[in-house]
Order: sequence, then C-alpha cells, then structure tokens
Amino acid sequence: MSMTGSTPGNDNRGIRELGAEEKVGWDEVTQGVALNSFVGETKNAAFLTPEERVYNDFNSYTATVASWRIIKPVYNRDICIDCQNCWVWCPDTSIISRDKQMLGIDYDHCKGCGVCVEVCPTNPKSLLMFNEQADNDEELAAWPVKEKK
Ligand code: SF4
Ligand code: SF4
Repeated sequence: MSMTGSTPGNDNRGIRELGAEEKVGWDEVTQGVALNSFVGETKNAAFLTPEERVYNDFNSYTATVASWRIIKPVYNRDICIDCQNCWVWCPDTSIISRDKQMLGIDYDHCKGCGVCVEVCPTNPKSLLMFNEQADNDEELAAWPVKEKK
C-alpha cells in the first residue's frame, strides 16, 4: 500500500513492501531476542549521520509515520537563530541539525506533536503548525510578523 501524493513523506516502506507479512508480530517475538539495528558493521554507527548509516529493514528509522500526521510543522529559516531548542525537545528526533545549524524537519518521522513550535523562542516563531495539506511555500510567504510587546 503506497500513500504518496498528498502525503509529503515517503510512505512506501510498510510491512507489505518489506515482504514481511509472514514474519512474527511484536508480541510473538521470543523474549530476549536481539534485532540488529544496522546492517553489517555497527561499532562506528554512533559517529555517522542517520543518512550515512545502513539500517536494518526492521529498524524504526526505515519505516515512515508520515501518514499518522494531520498537522505538520513548517520551518522558517529566515527567523531561526539556531538555538537548537527544537532539536533537544523533539520526542521523535525529527529535527535535522548538523554542526549546530537547524536544517529542517524529517517529515518521514515527525508525528506532528507541535512540541518544537512550543519551545521555539523567536518572535515570530521559526516553526509553526499547519494543516498537513498546506503548501509550505505559501505558508512561508504569509508568515506572521513580529509582535510588538
Ligand atoms: S511536530 Fe513533534 S515530532 Fe514533529 S518535528 Fe516537531 S517536535 Fe518533532
Ligand atoms: S527552536 Fe526555533 S530558533 Fe531554535 S533552532 Fe529551532 S526553529 Fe530555530
């Protein structure tokens, strides 16, 4: 089942696409079993970016949750001060930051909780929540202006 089109994330990595229907469910796995997170050598994985790691098909990183969202954060680079608050607080590790610079949102894994917007300190905020179907470029063009105190 593929849910492309209106869903910005790549939603084609579900259990059917992996050919995993015949495999056991999470509640049938033998207690104590270990599932490898990565393919091949793993000892250097901590020093690689997520894009550089080779994930096992059953690692949660390889499965998108984009279709769970009904609202999404949109990021405005022009206002962001790279404070990293959103990166620290995001419960799904869905803020992409490299060398202390906020780069954007991992829409494959963001669940639309809105925590990143709550903790963003700028005025106006550099992240705002919008309907999942909203056009990011249109929302950026109509971004709120600074509120006077
Ligand atoms: S909406 Fe929630 S899951 Fe998505 S980037 Fe923000 S804090 Fe992370
Ligand atoms: S919390 Fe706001 S200002 Fe800070 S890095 Fe994230 S988007 Fe930028």
